Amino acid sequence: MLLLTQAKSIGRLARPLSRSLYSGLIPLRPWARPFTITSRAAAKLDLPALDLKWRKRWAQLQQVQKDKTKDKVDKYILPMFPYPSGYLHLGHLRVYTIADAIARYNALRGHNVLLPMGWDAFGLPAENAAIERSINPATWTKDNIARMKEQLQMMNGSWDWEREIATCDPSFYKHTQKIFLLLHQHGLAYRTEAEVNYDPVDKTVLANEQVDANGCSWRSGAKVEKRKLNQWFLRISAFREALLDDLELLAKDEAWPERVLAMQRNWLGKSKGATIKFPILAYDQDVHAAIEVYTSRPDTLFGVQYLALAATHPIVTKLAETDPELQAFLDTLPGLPPDSKVGYMLPHIRAINPLAYHPDTPDATKQSLPIYVAPYVIGDYGEGAVMGVPAHDARDHAFWRTHRGDEPVRYVLASNEDESTTVIPNEPFLDHGIMTAHSGPYKGKPSQEAGEMLVKMLAEAGLAKPVEKWRLRDWLISRQRYWGTPIPIVHCASCGEVPVPDEQLPVLLPEVDAHWAGKKTGNPLETLDEWVNTECPKCHGPAKRDTDTMDTFVDSSWYYMRFIDPHNEAGPFDPQKARDMLPVDIYIGGIEHAILHLLYARFIYKFLMTSPLFPTSSASERHEPFKRLITQGMVHGRTFTDPATGRFLKPDELDLSDPANPRIKATGTKPNVTYEKMSKSKHNGVDPTAVIATHGADATRAHMLFQAPVGDVLDWDGDKIVGVTRWLSRVHDLVEKVTSTAPSPDYDFPTPKAYFESLAPRLSSLGEAELKQYDANSALWRTTQTTIASVSQSYEKVYPLNTVISDLMQLTNTLSDTLSCATPQIAREAVSILIRLMAPVTPAVAEECWSVLEPTSSGLFASEEGARWPERDGSEAVLRERKMKCAVQVNGKVRAVCEIGIAPEGLEGDKLREFVVGEIMKQDEHRQSLTRLTETASDSF
Ligand SMILES: [Zn+2]
Repeated sequence: MLLLTQAKSIGRLARPLSRSLYSGLIPLRPWARPFTITSRAAAKLDLPALDLKWRKRWAQLQQVQKDKTKDKVDKYILPMFPYPSGYLHLGHLRVYTIADAIARYNALRGHNVLLPMGWDAFGLPAENAAIERSINPATWTKDNIARMKEQLQMMNGSWDWEREIATCDPSFYKHTQKIFLLLHQHGLAYRTEAEVNYDPVDKTVLANEQVDANGCSWRSGAKVEKRKLNQWFLRISAFREALLDDLELLAKDEAWPERVLAMQRNWLGKSKGATIKFPILAYDQDVHAAIEVYTSRPDTLFGVQYLALAATHPIVTKLAETDPELQAFLDTLPGLPPDSKVGYMLPHIRAINPLAYHPDTPDATKQSLPIYVAPYVIGDYGEGAVMGVPAHDARDHAFWRTHRGDEPVRYVLASNEDESTTVIPNEPFLDHGIMTAHSGPYKGKPSQEAGEMLVKMLAEAGLAKPVEKWRLRDWLISRQRYWGTPIPIVHCASCGEVPVPDEQLPVLLPEVDAHWAGKKTGNPLETLDEWVNTECPKCHGPAKRDTDTMDTFVDSSWYYMRFIDPHNEAGPFDPQKARDMLPVDIYIGGIEHAILHLLYARFIYKFLMTSPLFPTSSASERHEPFKRLITQGMVHGRTFTDPATGRFLKPDELDLSDPANPRIKATGTKPNVTYEKMSKSKHNGVDPTAVIATHGADATRAHMLFQAPVGDVLDWDGDKIVGVTRWLSRVHDLVEKVTSTAPSPDYDFPTPKAYFESLAPRLSSLGEAELKQYDANSALWRTTQTTIASVSQSYEKVYPLNTVISDLMQLTNTLSDTLSCATPQIAREAVSILIRLMAPVTPAVAEECWSVLEPTSSGLFASEEGARWPERDGSEAVLRERKMKCAVQVNGKVRAVCEIGIAPEGLEGDKLREFVVGEIMKQDEHRQSLTRLTETASDSF
């Protein structure tokens, strides 16, 4: 499920470069010049009132436009859908603001945009809350959805609520069951007994991916137990080649972040290696003749110093029957961390390195090897046996040191031929390299080549086999919980597993009110006889329903396909609509979903796109559900701690009357201020709806985007939002000014470009007043043109959305500075462009301004009659600056910076020098100071 909490960030998130905002300087791209926000007083806009006004109009507009644009979608923008916890938090607001800004930008560009919203509504929190409150999880979930929808509607998002879905709705999970049965029909959903991770607190089975490195549940934090149960799996392994190969597609043009691609690649974990047989020497033991190990490093075979077996290896099970000490050791293993270095050396049994049979093998490698039982060997990976190479593997090295102390390790390869320079005592050498003298006849060979030769030689003797391994396991989807999609299978004593027939779908979750009222734990489906006992669809004899429900990642693996056809009763979606609207163009969400959700979604998409649900698709086509992936950073909250005790302080313990100088009320001292992940225990949470109610949605959205690049952590400081509020008021003022100024009668004025073109050839003939106006016009229009380019590019790239706001503030400043001199028509056009450029981020203020500027328009966002995205007009070529800056150096020191006229073309050498000096000397101020300086200096400038 897509919990957009602030939790679980994977990997390091970059810090924002600058957050010294509103104190004057704006964070800028390197090539932009700094500027200050002038604190000119502006009439205060009632931003929350504007939100209400325009939301109402947009809702009416949506009704009118609905039928026109339906199913003509050509841009599908999707933020990961939320888990309905009941409370919108700032992390949600951030991702939905990004999504809406990108959606509105594309709409203004003329696209038919799909921006849907739904709810990832199954899952454990609802069930736990239901038990706690003695209510049905459906009731709890529906209430939460209603509350969150209300909060979400406050943010001025352009969501298509007609397509709203909830995964817990039978009209949705009917199709989750259909997809499951389709997988089952293709042999891609199967049930088998497996050792599973069992969470004793949540009383459910977890996927391997949901168990952390310490062997604890990702959700409850409980120590996970191993149990053997009959479980449902989805055969994701059947798609592993495509899942790996198609990452190449996603790497093109940085469509997906490299970090996510690397995590996916690593999770799939394809490696090439070999299984190698180690013959066994056993004294009085009836065991296999050989132990087969898997290794990805056959080049280290000369360096094997022990073998290690998993606790579940058949030899271990066999020996434990007659070795009480071994059995006692095995009994201690559950509960140990997976990286534990404990081990038990099996007595009376040793192994032989298969290379020992070769006459040229050095004696050290020919010696027999001890065999350990060690929990660090995982039962289901490879053969449940590994070869221990302490000189060339970090884990093996640590194990060796624990059990063999200082006993030397054998380095069989080094980074170059001079071994002495590469081997660091007491450290394993992990890279590939050159074989050493310990490798006998292979000395001096590159290790990868030697490894391949060794496997080939042993394979000829029947002692090795080259193999390919994957880290990816099949996807365990069974959950022994109530609040999920029921598995649509009936178990019949004579027919076996029987799919529930299509006309009987959905298999509905039964009402179990007594279960909630009684605050019982466990899966109520297992004990509900009237639900479990049913008729076999095949033989009509008595049968039992499967009582497992599906992992919620199954729901989220296909929900984005449902949005294209959410009311389809017959199937998950219509193939024609899938062809028209899929895949998703831009998918936006947290990096915490970089592995599981995205991998599962890619798998199910690849399956469905080649299934009967999508019959005409060609098999050779490569199918990926999300063309572009944007991962946004977390939002951190301002956190106060007592410097004396380190205790987190509550807001009411602080005097925040002077935001720059907070004090602890009780002591009058300064608290420590940091930005941290928001949590109840740190008292640093911020309710986005309160911020919106105070400042309006537009200022909140703009502030949110402005504070940090999309991919970075955002340190939320609500005090600084006034800077954006002031900017919005200034824009509104500008609109009123340009609409109240009469157009200039002086020029024939088709377009700004025509004006510049008509004046360019006769600039030298203009009078002083006209030139002053020309300069103001050209400065304003140049900034307008570069702003169109930079802002459009930022919307396209998404990650630099923060610079949209700073660029627009800069254009606002240029407008303010040039307004008194510029031609009214040009100023008006520049304001019109400013409004359209800001509209994706601040839609209500932009609509308000647009209605003043274009009172007859049906609105910025009216799809056909609405505004269009501004494009550059190509006027840059004629927009020559009439002045240039010139630094004057005297004896190597800059003495003055003068603005001078631009030299006529073709001027060079002494003539150019004469022109420049003449220009400078025209200006009294420079003439005087420079004359003084040059009188005392030996060199002139
Ligand atoms: Zn039957």
